[in-house]
Amino acid sequence: MSKVLIIEDEETLALKLADKLRSEGFTVVTAGDGEDGLEKVREVLPDLIVLDIMLPRLDGLSLTRIVRRDTATSHIPIIMLTARGTEVDKIVGLESGADDYVVKPFALGEFLARVRAVMRRAPGTPGATDEMSSNDLRLSLTGRRLFKDTREIKLSNKEFDLLTELMRNKGVVLSRDLILTKVWGYDYFVDKRTVDVHIRWLREKIEDDPSNPRRIVTVRGVGYRFED
Ligand code: CA
Repeated sequence: MSKVLIIEDEETLALKLADKLRSEGFTVVTAGDGEDGLEKVREVLPDLIVLDIMLPRLDGLSLTRIVRRDTATSHIPIIMLTARGTEVDKIVGLESGADDYVVKPFALGEFLARVRAVMRRAPGTPGATDEMSSNDLRLSLTGRRLFKDTREIKLSNKEFDLLTELMRNKGVVLSRDLILTKVWGYDYFVDKRTVDVHIRWLREKIEDDPSNPRRIVTVRGVGYRFED
């Protein structure tokens, strides 16, 4: 049974989400502020955290960073809830280590779809999808292989991880910092240009015209975005 921890100070919203998730068979635990939330993360070790950004005592972004730094909790997927929805906030949210982002107000159906999607791609979740695709590209996650039409394209380990991260976040700008964190890991000391170099190598392998990339797009001053 999957356990979801909801950290949200708006009680009516927390109740609504909890009811919905329970009716779908999830076990739900709730917390009304950031510090209580963090305590429950450590105690319950949930399969998913639904986290409001604006919280009393400890805000959602700080909480996410703490959860991500602790090896006991760093793997737990996080969906952030927030009233703000500009792209900049989205980047900040994802950069802090969230897996997805829902902008208030949202429909319960949409929320549930995000929950299912995030849990599906969480490592070790039964029924996790093995494949991701975009046009003629097909990524086999367990086999760690990439195909373009029927032809296999050989990738290095880091190229594979990088492409997986980009394709998981189609349409979302990922900063170099976020990519470094997700692909190279938190404690790994690498120069940000490493990301650019790997992006260049990937482009040479997957773009029809590497000098005019259409799949991995550069967002000047921010990072990279994968386009379908
Ligand atoms: Ca709030």
